[in-house]
Amino acid sequence: MARHLITSAIPYINGIKHLGNLVGSQLPADLFARYQRARGNEVLFLCATDEHGTPAELAAAKAGQPVAEYCAEMHEVQSKIAEGFRLSFDHFGRSSSPQNHRLTQHFAGVLADRGLIREVSETQMYSPTDGRFLPDRYIEGTCPNCGFEDARGDQCDNCTKQLDPVDLINPRSVISGATDLEMRETKHLYLRQSTMKDQLEEWIDTREGWPVLTTSIAKKWLNDGDGLQDRGITRDLDWGIPVRKGDQDWPGMEGKVFYVWFDAPIEYIACAQEWVDADKGDDWERWWRTDKGAEDVTYTQFMGKDNVPFHTLSFPATILGSGEPWKLVDYIKSFNYLNYDGGQFSTSRGRGVFMDQALEILPADYWRWWLLSHAPESSDSEFTWENFQASVNKDLADVLGNFASRVTKFCRSKFGETVPAGGLPGDREAALVTALTGKLREYETHMQTIEVRKAAAALRAAWVLGNEYLQDAAPWTTFKTDPEQAAMQIRLALNMIRLYAVISSPFIPDASAQLLAAMRSGDDSWPEDVPAALSLLPEGHAFDVPDVTFRKIADEERAGWQEKFAGRRT
Ligand SMILES: [Zn+2]
Repeated sequence: MARHLITSAIPYINGIKHLGNLVGSQLPADLFARYQRARGNEVLFLCATDEHGTPAELAAAKAGQPVAEYCAEMHEVQSKIAEGFRLSFDHFGRSSSPQNHRLTQHFAGVLADRGLIREVSETQMYSPTDGRFLPDRYIEGTCPNCGFEDARGDQCDNCTKQLDPVDLINPRSVISGATDLEMRETKHLYLRQSTMKDQLEEWIDTREGWPVLTTSIAKKWLNDGDGLQDRGITRDLDWGIPVRKGDQDWPGMEGKVFYVWFDAPIEYIACAQEWVDADKGDDWERWWRTDKGAEDVTYTQFMGKDNVPFHTLSFPATILGSGEPWKLVDYIKSFNYLNYDGGQFSTSRGRGVFMDQALEILPADYWRWWLLSHAPESSDSEFTWENFQASVNKDLADVLGNFASRVTKFCRSKFGETVPAGGLPGDREAALVTALTGKLREYETHMQTIEVRKAAAALRAAWVLGNEYLQDAAPWTTFKTDPEQAAMQIRLALNMIRLYAVISSPFIPDASAQLLAAMRSGDDSWPEDVPAALSLLPEGHAFDVPDVTFRKIADEERAGWQEKFAGRRT
């Protein structure tokens, strides 16, 4: 049994995410976790909310709540929505947890002891208008690298270059728009990433089979310009993890907190501690410490491309720099962006479908199927309502749903609601089994290598084989001349419904559970042996005709949603 540690990039706490965020990490991570579990492997699947930093403070202020209370509430909201989408986290933690406080302070202390942290007296942007130091994200201006006018102080969204606010041309306060920014002196801690460049590059070179998207971004950051830069790990803020050296005070750092980029990835580890402390597991170290059993763990991270630098360089710098035997990531699966109907999703303008709204109009499986089968893997992809409607109506309703419905209803009308006896399979059935086995093995290969779109295509092709068989064998015609033969065809088709339910469960867990329940089968073991799996429901086994598994989306409905989500959400 293989052991898989799986993490999804942790979503920021302020507000509800859109479908592009969902397909950029949490959803494909869930697909992979569900698949590995279905194959009988041991899985620890973790995600959390990323709760620190100024955006959380400001969102809380806007909501008129203390920031801790705001974060606790929003964590609940995100947690409920994640359940709605059937994201099967073993634990959905919080970066503000006491576990993460302790662990972040521990890492900082160890890194300091090893000479990898230096104190820097620096001047920082202060806004007299706002009466505060401005964190990077609250300064915008023109990117010195590409000229993009709305580059943030920490990173340019256009060219992905990591920035310092002082690099920006014509900087302004995002809070007030004030341009009378001045530099004031303050002291901060820096992680000496630059001294670890060779070690990081060597480590990246040992990673096998990483996607080009992942390694090219990492290499660019390591080598472009002056190479990898040291990076500040503290901020002048109230909300965050207080700067301490392990469990000791850190003289000169009073009143400061760790910068959110430093503590957020550490939450991947702290989340496993939270999982144990919540009585869901009993040993987190066997997942995270290579000296305590994690040596045989395969660790896979999922994220959008904008998060790649932090996961290929900054977080590994923390781990490698500590000199402690923490588990490092084995494979990073990164995604491009999902665009929305000819433009971009926009949280501020409410353009596009947000996770809560999606679940209000259709069940999770409809979204899961479309998003995963159109995952932005090799390039950006685009959500359009026409494409969504076509995909739901064809793939889900016409192909899978219709197969289950036709087979069960025909059986009920001619043989009753039990698996019919009689007849012997022939060449047509043998050919079907061969084709289905081939498709299934193809599907498994794509799932194992996390080629999400290809996996979806192989799964759909497996569904199509069932419809083609039914069309070809035509049991409704056979029945008139050879009822035994028709019984054999239907028996096989009923077993295919069960097989489809099992293999489709990583993509569409609710529909799979519904079909499995309709087949009155508690056996969801993976069909390693297809012929055996196709005779699992024996003659005389009772079943139910399932309710409509997938309904079609009508044109008027589609047009209504198109209008509704065009962008006015406040
Ligand atoms: Zn730029």
